Amino acid sequence: MSRSRIVIVGAGFAGYQAARTLSRKYRGVAEVVLVNPNDYFLYLPLLPEVSAGVLEPRRVSVSLAGTLRGVRLVLGEVDGVDLASRKITYVDPEGEARELGYDRLVLTVGSVNKLLPIPGVAEHAHGFRGMPEALYLRDHISRQIAMAASSDDPAERDARCTFVVVGAGYTGTEVAAHGKLFTDSLARQHRRAGNGLPGDKQPRWMLLDVAPRVLPGLDERLSKTAHRVLAKRGVDVRTGTSVKEATSEGVLLDDGEFVRTESLIWCVGVRPDPLVEEMGLPSEKGRLCVDEYLQVPDHPEVFACGDAAAVPDLTKPGEYTPMTAQHAVRQGKVVARNVAASLGTGERRPYKHHDMGFTVDLGGVQAAANPLGVPLSGPVANAVMRGYHLASLPGNRVRVAADWLLDAVLPRQAVQLGLVRSWSVPLESASPEVASHPYEPRGGSSGTASSA
Ligand SMILES: Cc1cc2nc3c(=O)[nH]c(=O)nc-3n(C[C@H](O)[C@H](O)[C@H](O)COP(=O)(O)OP(=O)(O)OC[C@H]3O[C@@H](n4cnc5c(N)ncnc54)[C@H](O)[C@@H]3O)c2cc1C
Repeated sequence: MSRSRIVIVGAGFAGYQAARTLSRKYRGVAEVVLVNPNDYFLYLPLLPEVSAGVLEPRRVSVSLAGTLRGVRLVLGEVDGVDLASRKITYVDPEGEARELGYDRLVLTVGSVNKLLPIPGVAEHAHGFRGMPEALYLRDHISRQIAMAASSDDPAERDARCTFVVVGAGYTGTEVAAHGKLFTDSLARQHRRAGNGLPGDKQPRWMLLDVAPRVLPGLDERLSKTAHRVLAKRGVDVRTGTSVKEATSEGVLLDDGEFVRTESLIWCVGVRPDPLVEEMGLPSEKGRLCVDEYLQVPDHPEVFACGDAAAVPDLTKPGEYTPMTAQHAVRQGKVVARNVAASLGTGERRPYKHHDMGFTVDLGGVQAAANPLGVPLSGPVANAVMRGYHLASLPGNRVRVAADWLLDAVLPRQAVQLGLVRSWSVPLESASPEVASHPYEPRGGSSGTASSA
């Protein structure tokens, strides 16, 4: 008799953890196949450090083949699920259409950049949801400072030295906090080299949000710490403010001010991966509805969790668990157990997890954290945050710690490799995890953002 096959779609926090738990605790129960566009698990919370040149990109990319024994990795992007014949269809990295049968399906496809219908934003902004965008941003920032330094035109210098981040959730706040330190360091290097940046010309970062405070969804004490650190660093925080229009010259704010810039960084949040909607099953704000066992109603062979699933929050009846790594990882463990139980091994259990607090990386030695509800700030919070990330990373820990050490004693590397171009990281993409290619496997748009 042939072994059952469990297919996991998406190797992010939830999918990676599901595959790891199945391979460690339930080895032999079934063949485990993991389908993902890349051969690595991306540790997203440290991505702002990649865009600011603190960490090298491979540090936050954990090899799937190197860390998941007994799991068959299939490189590809799933573009269809045939529930009746229990098959997925996918496109491999070379554009070939393929299919794969399953006995149990686990959907952990995560989320993509959220768009708002604001004129010009899709054309002129870039998101921050995957490695290509982080690499693009790192190069783009370095290029803007270098070009500002070589320009004689004060208006051009101002525009190139102005960076606008929209969305003051944890992603936008971390990108702005790290970005300011990065550009200050680059500007210092250009000045020392004798390039044309006047001594009083400091790179300007703006952080906008319609909400009345930064980190609107988190503990107010974290907001206060983050606001204080950003303001002290010189980041222009504008709460209660949004963008009315984006153009190739800059952005028009809703209070009528026009800000000249070459850099509009869109961090207004995420929406579930569009594959969920395409399946035509009941969903909640784009997230696939599942029960507390992470199973899709009327399809006991299909499970889902992480950002892509609306998982009932048993600690807050009537609500769904938030889209965080903290929940995705734990749901990955539970889904592995429940899938194994559905194949006759062990007992299933419902998903229930109390929030354990949050850490926000503010760059340098600064952070804000509230582990188990205890508010922390400054270097103590930073130590807690780094310790937490090192413990949570499933690989590359020594390499990450080594990069942190080097960053503490050496200047940032002011070089841009220019490998990721503006057009290959469009804001509107169903696949922010891969740079867009001419043949466009699924849902990507051909971005028209103006800068290279
Ligand atoms: C910059 C940033 C910082 C963050 N910081 C924190 C933090 O500090 N703490 C916290 O709790 N949360 C944080 N989050 C949120 C957290 O990363 C997400 O909630 C978490 O990644 C969700 O896990 P997931 O497994 O559902 O999705 P993901 O981790 O996004 O994984 C989805 C996977 O599915 C793959 N995939 C997508 N579509 C397909 C397809 N069609 N076929 C095959 N594979 C596919 C993707 O390539 C990816 O590998 C952060 C997010 C970002 C963007």
